[in-house]
Amino acid sequence: MRVHVVGNVCVDTTFRLDRFPAAGETLNASDHADGLGGKGANQAVAAVRTGADVRFHAAIGNDAAGAWITDQLSRDLDASHLTMLPLPSDRSTILVDARGENLIVTGASCAAAFDPLAASGFIRSVERGDIVVVQGNLDPDVTTACLKLARSAGAMTVFNPSPLAAGHTPSLSDVSLAIANAGEAEQLTGISDPDAAARELIRQGADTAIVTLGAVGCLVADGKGRVDRLVAPRVAVVDTSGAGDVFCGCLAGCLAAGMDLAAAARIAVRAAAISVGCAGTLGSCPDRREMKLLME
Ligand code: ADP
Repeated sequence: MRVHVVGNVCVDTTFRLDRFPAAGETLNASDHADGLGGKGANQAVAAVRTGADVRFHAAIGNDAAGAWITDQLSRDLDASHLTMLPLPSDRSTILVDARGENLIVTGASCAAAFDPLAASGFIRSVERGDIVVVQGNLDPDVTTACLKLARSAGAMTVFNPSPLAAGHTPSLSDVSLAIANAGEAEQLTGISDPDAAARELIRQGADTAIVTLGAVGCLVADGKGRVDRLVAPRVAVVDTSGAGDVFCGCLAGCLAAGMDLAAAARIAVRAAAISVGCAGTLGSCPDRREMKLLME
């Protein structure tokens, strides 16, 4: 059983400053660094660290950043399923001030143009019983088509509708498992109570649904009317960025290992808690050894 993660990858360049610049002002950062980012890449790496056989389908540009992304991803997974487009690679510039507030600008032309169905032979490689994980970074029509084709190929489809596209959300009718945080679940359903929102995601078409609740843990709705609450371990929070991606990738990997949804979600809650206790997005994702211990 293979996990296919279809999504985006980018270079995140983070600048640390005492304060944000005003319009027209130039400031020197106290430090800056490049890191691998993008929800697709984060989820693919988290899944691979569970020991799953993962194929990551995303687009890079034909530039130095694309080569750097390929090199970085190759440390964790087989990067041969990336598609190179005649565009600049996707990038985010992240400014972080002394209070830890951030300002982010993203250039996502590769994600906007990427059509995995046309470009990468993705759908030919999906087999019955595989797990296909998609997020909200691609064009919503492409996402919908991906979910539909994956489902008709007999795959389990996992949809994490993040980031939510204003006014145009893919339908949930070909979704085996929807995973949304509380804010996204409310936006999708118009319901603020997460328990009722999880049930509504199922009414909208998903077979099962998970609503993540930050430090509280998550709700797992099994499609038979049952909603279970899984409590997150208490941790000293260092950096919550990427927690949802660690959760989704780890969950998909655990499902591929044959666990049922509740067992997989229990491991994902613990993996995500480890990630919020450390700095960084991918840097804070449990490594293979830690994942193995969690899964024992
Ligand atoms: P997102 O990161 O997508 O906004 P959440 O904030 O709901 O989503 O976090 C996803 C998961 O990460 C949660 O379900 C939980 O398991 C874990 N998590 C997030 N914040 C914390 C925290 N402060 N303590 C422990 N676990 C956390």
